[in-house]
Amino acid sequence: EPAMRLVGVERRYREGEGALAILRGANLDLYPGEMVALVAPSGTGKSTLLHVAGLLERPDGGDVLVGRQSTRDMRDSERTRMRREEIGFVYQSHHLLPEFSALENVVLPQMIRGLSRKEASSRAGELLSFLGLGERLAHRPAELSGGEQQRVAIARAVANAPRLLLADEPTGNLDPQTAAHVFQTMVSLVQASGVAALIATHNLDLAARMDRRVTLRDGRVVETD
Ligand code: ADP
Ligand code: ADP
Repeated sequence: EPAMRLVGVERRYREGEGALAILRGANLDLYPGEMVALVAPSGTGKSTLLHVAGLLERPDGGDVLVGRQSTRDMRDSERTRMRREEIGFVYQSHHLLPEFSALENVVLPQMIRGLSRKEASSRAGELLSFLGLGERLAHRPAELSGGEQQRVAIARAVANAPRLLLADEPTGNLDPQTAAHVFQTMVSLVQASGVAALIATHNLDLAARMDRRVTLRDGRVVETD
């Protein structure tokens, strides 16, 4: 069964008198262990779709299901809890906390969820080692290369073993070789963890290596192959 379902999602932005409809009945099922590329021109609503899927914005219509659970009637506090437990985010820039080490950046979200420092450190160390950063645990973000920073951000995103990984141009700031390397670590991670990944990208080479490709057309999600 899907890890997440977007069902008839609508999203409008008010602009002066009129309303701008960005999502108009968007449907998308994301299955465990698959990587789906979201490739569409700027301004078509990719970020809006990721924010709605990530429970950061409420849709104006339709529903977002996490597993079998509808989020339509959830209170904000329930949505926040579900976001923390079930959804990981990776952005174009890493947004790591500069004063904290790589390990601590991956430990913190787990402690916020209630794990002990010991449990969280153990998992963070394993994850970072899996992503090839076993020798970088004590480095602060400024002491890491761009690709390493992005791999720490990926480890942080999956630290709480989410069902869903949402990424907005995760390799957009990296040179092609580093981008390919970071992407390959994401592939390994998705395969090992079974997380469902929705990745907005302009990189057609990487999109071609994902399981499926979708775009946005007239506010709906359309498969492109
Ligand atoms: P993309 O990520 O594909 O570039 P976005 O989802 O960021 O597209 O934006 C889609 C459209 O919605 C754009 O025309 C943008 O200007 C508009 N938009 C996005 N966020 C807001 C907002 N908070 N208020 C008004 N308009 C918005
Ligand atoms: P890349 O060639 O991938 O861009 P860099 O040349 O920036 O990487 O860094 C090479 C290695 O040196 C990285 O693995 C990084 O961890 C380490 N490094 C870079 N800058 C610092 C720093 N200021 N302090 C400690 N280690 C650093």
